[in-house]
Amino acid sequence: MNNIVLINEGLCIGCAKCVELCPKKILYIDVKTGKCKVSDESKCDRLRGCERICPVDAIKII
Ligand code: SF4
Ligand code: SF4
Repeated sequence: MNNIVLINEGLCIGCAKCVELCPKKILYIDVKTGKCKVSDESKCDRLRGCERICPVDAIKII
């Protein structure tokens, strides 16, 4: 369970916009599911760029 980067896989369309944007390179698209995942959320800068760029509101920083 993630405590910082919450990804709603039901909403995610795998567009990778957040992956390209993330300055910490901690977001990736899981090859099996085609959905966004986070690798090491402890590196997150919490500046919410991913939240703003996601077209379907699938990612939240808490
Ligand atoms: S808030 Fe920033 S560092 Fe954290 S996952 Fe989103 S884009 Fe990456
Ligand atoms: S921007 Fe949103 S829809 Fe696109 S891969 Fe990231 S979480 Fe999924």
